[in-house]
Amino acid sequence: MSEEQAIGIMGGTFDPIHYGHLMLADCALDQFKLEQVIFVPSANPPHKFNKKITPVEMRYEMTLLATMDNPYFTVSKVEMKRPGSSYTIDTVKYFRERYPEYQIYFITGADTILEIDTWKSPNELMQIVYFIAAVRPGYSFERLEKEFYQKYRDRIFFLEMPEIGISSTDIRNRIKAGKTIKYQVHPAVEAYIKKYQLYLKE
Ligand code: ATP
Ligand code: MG
Repeated sequence: MSEEQAIGIMGGTFDPIHYGHLMLADCALDQFKLEQVIFVPSANPPHKFNKKITPVEMRYEMTLLATMDNPYFTVSKVEMKRPGSSYTIDTVKYFRERYPEYQIYFITGADTILEIDTWKSPNELMQIVYFIAAVRPGYSFERLEKEFYQKYRDRIFFLEMPEIGISSTDIRNRIKAGKTIKYQVHPAVEAYIKKYQLYLKE
């Protein structure tokens, strides 16, 4: 498998994108010899439908700013162009068609991989792409190894990376509380958040 060309897809809400996302993507690029990582901001994440999220155009712009200085990172508007809920199965089918000769890895953190059985068409999803699962503080792989991983054993790969305790939720809370977010997000993202006064209110 390592002989073949491979790309990574990094899905997320990115509200806002932070260094945990960027480090995850870079470690995946390195460990799995990916040609590029495509960041896909979720337009209408079905699992966050009852939460207030920043307009996707702004999350897309922040993702662009954060990835601009890395030639191996690109950002896709594919989920922004699709009306309705953003399902990963539709996204991976799109990339499967677009990159027929590539291995495709969908990059996730530990919390996300543990939820995939609640996503649309998990079995089909697992057949189309491989999954990369990274450690994340507060989430143990114990359950994954027991049930879930047994089921999809050949389709999930574990990623080595330093555990990073940064989350978008924590960043939003910090901003609301007037705390610094420096060194947690790319400086261009920090400037964008300040300029548009994001996350100050509920
Ligand atoms: P929120 O708190 O709003 O859910 P988040 O920080 O979890 O935000 P998402 O956009 O939900 O960010 O995550 C996108 C992907 O990145 C998911 O697969 C998630 O598991 C992964 N991820 C996010 N932060 C980290 C981190 N610090 N370490 C490892 N993986 C992470
Ligand atoms: Mg999350």
